[in-house]
Amino acid sequence: MPELIAKLQTEHDLTDAELLNFLTEPQPEDILFAAADAERRRYYGDAVYLRGLIEFTNYCKNNCYYCGIRAGNPCAERYRLTDEQILACCKEGYSLGYRTFVLQGGEDPYYTDEKICALVSAIAMQHPDCRITLSIGEKSRDSYQRYYDAGARRFLLRHETASPEHYRKLHPESMSLENRKRCLFDLKAIGYQVGSGFMIGSPYQTPETLLSDIRFLQELCPAMIGVGPYITHRETPFAEMPPGELHFSLRIVALLRLMFPKALIPATTAFASLHAEGRELALRAGANVVMPNLSPVTVRKHYDLYENKVCLGDEAAHCRGCMERRIASAGYRAVVAVGDSLV
Ligand code: SAH
Repeated sequence: MPELIAKLQTEHDLTDAELLNFLTEPQPEDILFAAADAERRRYYGDAVYLRGLIEFTNYCKNNCYYCGIRAGNPCAERYRLTDEQILACCKEGYSLGYRTFVLQGGEDPYYTDEKICALVSAIAMQHPDCRITLSIGEKSRDSYQRYYDAGARRFLLRHETASPEHYRKLHPESMSLENRKRCLFDLKAIGYQVGSGFMIGSPYQTPETLLSDIRFLQELCPAMIGVGPYITHRETPFAEMPPGELHFSLRIVALLRLMFPKALIPATTAFASLHAEGRELALRAGANVVMPNLSPVTVRKHYDLYENKVCLGDEAAHCRGCMERRIASAGYRAVVAVGDSLV
């Protein structure tokens, strides 16, 4: 057993020097993934939690340099789902067995706090046995509190990078790492189960920025850690930048599982978009959540964060069955449950 993997298994931590070594030296993947798999089974067994993802708007006021739905992309065809459409997605999702609905969107000023609260209350009223997750970007503490009071209990907001210099290279002046972190700590203080994370292989990422990502996650202690390879989008300032590398990304998933044994770690769509069996590979490297798409097929292709995004033409019911088969083929069991994290 290589020394670093053995230490991760017993101590769930490494020194800065050891982490940099892990991030720069090739690791024996079979041993690493087996160690990560043992760790996930210790707390979560073979369960893989399903979350129904509803991408309800692709309007965005921000201009993140990596993202295809940035405000500055004139080619993006914009859409918003109506409340009725969103509620219909939840209803269909419920009948397919989902007990968590994730409402994700760009930072769309059309959705005032009143509108978000009305939507959250309506979903909570119709599905009292479900969790509502929001992923709608940076807001004031007061707004986050209002969504919580309306019934939202989880919030996904990736920090994207914990290095201020790297953050500056990925985002325009109007955004700051400081505010992103403020949001995450506000969300925690209110009582949300918080998900954070970052892209792997994003432009200008280095082993040192990854080290700061890991240290930041240790400080935040999120319930969920969402990571996935960066994938280039041609209508962005990063059109010429290469995508993240699959195997390196899988090694990061395994590292995170070993360092955060109780965290929920999704096998993200970006993995599936980079490789036909990317989700299965991520599950086997330690991931234990998948988020199949519940959005109406007519709008799927417009939630165009990156190129070659998968499952664009599949009905929700098809996705549900497909996901269950994929999870089983990887050696795990899809679970119909709220699926709170153990963190
Ligand atoms: N507006 C919300 C949701 C953002 S989209 C928010 O700010 O939180 C969800 C995630 O997709 C982002 O946090 C980012 O990490 C990821 N993403 C965006 N562009 C991407 C790309 N080109 N490749 C891979 N992941 C990307």
